[in-house]
Amino acid sequence: MEESRFIAGQPVPVGTGKVSVQRVLCANASMMTGPGTNTYVLGDRDMAVVDPGPALPDHTDAIMQALADRPLKWIFVTHTHGDHSPGTSALQALTGACVIGMAPPPGALYQDASFAPDRLYQDGERIICDGFTMQLIRTPGHVSNHICFLLEEDGLLFTGDHILQGTTPVILPPDGDMGDYLASLEQLRGLPLQALAPGHGEIMREPAQVINTLVRHRLRREQKIVNALQNLGPATLDTLVLQAYDDVAEHLLPWAKKTLLAHLIKLLRDGRAAVDGDATDAAAQWAPNRD
Ligand SMILES: [Zn+2]
Repeated sequence: MEESRFIAGQPVPVGTGKVSVQRVLCANASMMTGPGTNTYVLGDRDMAVVDPGPALPDHTDAIMQALADRPLKWIFVTHTHGDHSPGTSALQALTGACVIGMAPPPGALYQDASFAPDRLYQDGERIICDGFTMQLIRTPGHVSNHICFLLEEDGLLFTGDHILQGTTPVILPPDGDMGDYLASLEQLRGLPLQALAPGHGEIMREPAQVINTLVRHRLRREQKIVNALQNLGPATLDTLVLQAYDDVAEHLLPWAKKTLLAHLIKLLRDGRAAVDGDATDAAAQWAPNRD
């Protein structure tokens, strides 16, 4: 990774074709956000932003600087986690831009309930901007209201947390769903993609390879969970995670448990696992389906 390119607040050109794209990194680096959240600034005249990031005045200032007095007309939001959407209201108040995204379902955990898009948007809808077009690609999985945006002119897909660089996203059930996640990855294969612009990390220039690797990773993990169920079942999440995620550092296990549960719910639905009690209860015992 080119570390020098990851300096918070400094706009870096990352365009991969005709349309000007700048990345403004937010100073919120952490275990969950890697180098920090990527905000993307698009265009030359009337401008667009993808993912304003958290509500941090310094980050909003850095976005305004990158806009360089050009009008901001569109704010695209991939999903409503705290590191992607809460900066929207300040930016919208300063610029009057139209807000494009999906509100979180009521009561969903870890979601920014303040997020309010201008209207309801449909899958496949195309937003004509100033010299470029963004297409909405619904990609539920990480969370149910996740959207990727395709910059059509350059085949550049803004992937939010659907596809990350350098790590795999956590799937957060019950709102996040492993079956949906895999279907959303498959659906991307049909798009004319040239590059991926993730919510965290560097631009990826081999989209097909990245998607293949991610799908393989998920299916390998699923097989490892099936094996652990056969070896240990009936067993709780706490027991299963140690065997099914024996390659993951201990401090990441609480997050691995969430994705493990997402896999188990998919296996339950596929008729390959059984559960005694409520699937979302930590004390629930999981076993292979013997039927
Ligand atoms: Zn997220």
